[in-house]
Parts: sequence; C-alpha cells; structure tokens
Amino acid sequence: MLKTKRMSIVPTFACTLRCKLCSNHMPLFQNPPRATAEEMKTDIDSLFTLFDHIEWLQFVGGEIFTHRHLDEVFLYCKNYSAQFDRLIIETNATILPTDKELESLLSYGEKLKVMISDYGELSKVRNQFVEILTQNNVEYNLKKYHGDVMGQHFGGWIDNTPCRDLLEPDEYVTQQAARCAQVRLENMHIFRGKLHRCSNSLFLSELGVCVPNRGDFVDLYDGTSQEEKREIIKRFYAYPRKSCHYCTWKSGDSAERYSAAEQEARSNDA
Ligand code: SF4
Repeated sequence: MLKTKRMSIVPTFACTLRCKLCSNHMPLFQNPPRATAEEMKTDIDSLFTLFDHIEWLQFVGGEIFTHRHLDEVFLYCKNYSAQFDRLIIETNATILPTDKELESLLSYGEKLKVMISDYGELSKVRNQFVEILTQNNVEYNLKKYHGDVMGQHFGGWIDNTPCRDLLEPDEYVTQQAARCAQVRLENMHIFRGKLHRCSNSLFLSELGVCVPNRGDFVDLYDGTSQEEKREIIKRFYAYPRKSCHYCTWKSGDSAERYSAAEQEARSNDA
C-alpha cells in the first residue's frame, strides 16, 4: 500500500508576481516552463497507478491560473476520485480562473478547498474570488501576507534564496530536515514526470543548481518497474537529501522572518 498526505502537481512555473524572496525561486526562471494538459493527465495516470491513496491532491505554481487550460485537468482527476480525499488549489489571487476552470472546480463541491496567499493590494482579485467561493459554499483559507510582519502567516517569510550548499554539518542537516514541514506533510511535488519529495528539491533541480542524487526523486518514465519506483518513494523521507543541504526551511523555527512578497523590478520596468 503506497500513500502520501500531499501530492502537488505543478502546472506552470510562470507567476504574475516577482517576489524577491520567492522560496520556490520562480524569478530565477528566465523562460518559466509549463506542462501541457496532456502531460499532466499522463502524470496523473502514473501517480494513481503508483499510489493507492493521496489525502490532498494539490495544484501549486508559480501562479496556476496563468495556465488557462486547467479545466480539463481538474475534470480528468475525477477519474481517480476514490483515491484522493480533497482537491486543493493554491493561488495568489492576482488572476481569476477562466469560466471553464471555475466550473470544473465548483463541480467538486465540498471536496474542493482553495488556499489564497493574500498579499494585500497585490492580490487584486481576492475579494472577487472570495465572493465567488462564498456564494458557492467552497471552503477557503486566506493566508495573510501583508501588514506588520509579526501578524503575517507563520510570522512572515524565510529567505530561501541562497541556492547553494550551505555547508552545514551533516548531523545538523539530518536533525533539522527530519522536522521540516514538507517532510511532516509528505508534500511530494511533480512536474513533467519528475516526482520529488518536496518543492525545494523539484525547483532547485529544474533550475540546475542542485543536481539530485540517485533516489532523491523518481522519473515516472525511466523504464524501471513500478515496484522499484514504490521502494524509492517509500524511502523519500527516511533521510535528508541533497536539496536539504541547500535549504533554509529546515531551520524554520529559528530562521529570521521577512515581510512577504516584496517585488523585484521586472527587466522591462526600468
Ligand atoms: S529540501 Fe529538505 S529541508 Fe528543504 S524543504 Fe525539502 S525536505 Fe525540507
């Protein structure tokens, strides 16, 4: 039996914002990659062949609603409705879903939950989206990321932008990574057939700054057997991986906090 608490499908690395401390390193992608609807459907087939059960099937970006063709993917997930408990959508409320995307999401009823990162004035469609969700009895969570940093969700952001081996002792990395929220939540991330144990591992790997070791991720289409893939996944959280050596999230309890979503200038803003 293979289960996980969280499975995050990443449709796109494109984002409407350009946050200086983006923990997923999105501003560093010059040409943000994007998965096609067909690629995501193929990944979803593979995931639900490997996994017996997923608690929360999540869609996270970038900003997922820049994709504009997620309606068919949301509907496709229904083929596996019995194998996941909830459909979770993460958005920064800068852009509304298309009418078709909204319709497909609302068809999930109580199974749908929307997580809104509320960046104050930057989240310009927040009120409109909240109104739609309220009218349709959809559960949502507003994560406050504006105003005084102490009052922000989790006390503000951590700076995870060094993107290099922090050269910390192995013992410290092992101890801290075991307590990492991504580990506790078993928050796996998938993009174009590459399944990683956390977001940092996926995004650093896609950036090419941290080449994962063998067993740090699973390539769903590398020709190895389902059993071999399952064995690697079962050990995902057994010990820290290469990306943990590059990561400040593992020191979350003691790490300095910063006000969220301070914007970088875009190259054409000058
Ligand atoms: S790289 Fe390691 S410490 Fe960082 S978020 Fe992932 S599991 Fe946690």
